[in-house]
Amino acid sequence: MPILVDCGEGAMQQLMRAGVDFRQLHDIILSHHHFDHIGSLFTCLGINMMMQRQVPLNIFGPPGTGRIIDGLIAACEVPQEIGFGVAGQNLPHPGEFVRVQEISPGDEFEIDGIRISACENTHYRTEDKFGQDGPISLSLRFDAPDRSIVFTGDTGRCKALEEFATGAELLVGEVIDVETTMARIRKKNPQMARERIDAFSQHMTEHYLTPEHLGALATRAGAEHIVAVHISLDALSAETDASIVSRIASRFSGNITISRDPACYQQLPAVHCNLFARRGTVRRAIFCRRPIPGYRPNDMAERSRPVRSRPNG
Ligand SMILES: [Zn+2]
Repeated sequence: MPILVDCGEGAMQQLMRAGVDFRQLHDIILSHHHFDHIGSLFTCLGINMMMQRQVPLNIFGPPGTGRIIDGLIAACEVPQEIGFGVAGQNLPHPGEFVRVQEISPGDEFEIDGIRISACENTHYRTEDKFGQDGPISLSLRFDAPDRSIVFTGDTGRCKALEEFATGAELLVGEVIDVETTMARIRKKNPQMARERIDAFSQHMTEHYLTPEHLGALATRAGAEHIVAVHISLDALSAETDASIVSRIASRFSGNITISRDPACYQQLPAVHCNLFARRGTVRRAIFCRRPIPGYRPNDMAERSRPVRSRPNG
């Protein structure tokens, strides 16, 4: 069964484009609660309600997930009461089919024979603050009988994540080009005060991975393949792809792919891995035990096949 990792804006549409019926989806795992990772949860609950979902929908995520889902379930009440206006037809209340399980760093659980574990990363705070009260951002690891995949989620550099990712074949890693991103922000927001620009720049620098950081992380973890995600639509081009690949390759000698949405990466024989790096800042991924029936990678996916990186030099 597919597992959806994060549910940012547009996720439900992209599932459809990838040929995944939302009814097939029983498990969603959230890495953290920034809006670009959770924006489509309301759509997800609503469409399942409208289509009379009868089976459980499991939503996993760090502490706070329950509060978010409670709010979304409450927001479903008005459309649930309205229904379709057909006499005798009632919609299920999402509270009847949604099950939330909050996960903490160190937790492990299993879905369809895949062991899933979580560690805290430095997207919100430095490692010396781990264990204290406060919001938690997670990295996720998927261990199938013969393959392991790690999602960095959004994170800064993080020793704990290096250890956590050790031995994973595939590293799905977020990456940011701080200079390009900041130039874009300044251009789009010419009135932005200096302090806000500085604060944003600090956030970008400390709470995300540069291509070089991602390459170094994968090398230390011993990964074979990086799929780079979390790249904004207006930063995606052949030129930026080449630049990001070469910057990652300066620290990593394995395969490097710049993700495209809805690209499909099936290099794993047992766990077919389909990754969606939506244009814009949304990204999510699906892992399937079996290939998705009828799914054909589109042109973009074909072009996004693994690029053999240059050796360290
Ligand atoms: Zn984030």
